[in-house]
Amino acid sequence: MTVFSAPLRLRLDSRALVNNWRWLQQRNGAAACGAAIKADGYGAGAVEVMRRLLDAGCRDFFVSNWAEARPLEPLLEEGISLAVLHGVRAEDMEVALASRARPVLCTPDQIVRWKAAGGGICDLMVDTGMNRLGLDWRGDSLAEIEGLTVDTLLSHLASADEDTRLSQLQLERFGALKASVPAQRYSLANSAGICLGPDYAFDLTRPGLALYGGVPRAEAAGKIAQVVFPQAQLLQRRHVPAGDSIGYNATHVVVRDMDIAVLNIGYADGYLRAFSGRGIVKAGDIALAVVGRVSMDLVAVDVSAQPSLVEGDWLDIDYALPEAAALSGLSQYELLTGLGDRFDRLWE
Ligand SMILES: *Cc1c(COP(=O)(O)O)cnc(C)c1O
Repeated sequence: MTVFSAPLRLRLDSRALVNNWRWLQQRNGAAACGAAIKADGYGAGAVEVMRRLLDAGCRDFFVSNWAEARPLEPLLEEGISLAVLHGVRAEDMEVALASRARPVLCTPDQIVRWKAAGGGICDLMVDTGMNRLGLDWRGDSLAEIEGLTVDTLLSHLASADEDTRLSQLQLERFGALKASVPAQRYSLANSAGICLGPDYAFDLTRPGLALYGGVPRAEAAGKIAQVVFPQAQLLQRRHVPAGDSIGYNATHVVVRDMDIAVLNIGYADGYLRAFSGRGIVKAGDIALAVVGRVSMDLVAVDVSAQPSLVEGDWLDIDYALPEAAALSGLSQYELLTGLGDRFDRLWE
């Protein structure tokens, strides 16, 4: 049998993933700690992430839509819950009714649809100030929920990663909802919300970013460990004489003779052009500068001082999320979820 291996890979650290989840769980007080695994587990791979967190004791998972729920269905044993955050469109009903996952109903129309179909236990999203998905907290449409059996009542924080009054306001509004809307459980906090303290935890939290190594607030710095480590293979090493330029649009003109390594990763893999002339690649502890533009499938780094690097070597893309976000101007979320499907994903 021929084993095909891709020229680029993600090393994924199981222990870091589980430790991040445990750290978040400990900040929760008595509340349960769930896991947002939408967008294919923020690029890491939802099935593999869910398996590892199930082993660690996580029982509550969240995805955005029913296509994301489908490959997770076989993992939904008794006592494991999967909630679909965007609720049910008319087109989703057949799949949703047959699924072991629950919709998080977000609109009056969704509620009517679910009730008419006798859909059973569901979750409910109430908007407390973000003005994204959910019934309005002021209650105009809250009357619609009469007759629903709500497992979890959710709301989502808009600015928990900053110090603003909005989080406190949302907390107060959510507390009032808890007193007036019956549900088995209440859930407000994402990763950043967990860092705001146990008042925000209620019965269940829904971290995403921090599970995967994102640092949502200063409280998590040094506690949350990197999970996703992209690596790319060296395809060609070349000598570039002074005066020549490198890459598309000749943005980098070589002043002194330079040796470059051309690596198999580019913007189609999520290594966006924001890293052009700025990204850092590592050979062991040695930092190598990205030179010129990032192409669709390739990037060049300066290896003048590293004569031992040759075709076939693997190099580490520097992808510590807070630093890579600061360098590129991309959010930590974009850095994770943009990682494409050309990587081999290798869990360690
Ligand atoms: C994505 C999402 C989360 C997870 O948020 P993070 O900031 O990644 O921790 C939680 N709840 C809802 C409703 C979401 O959409």
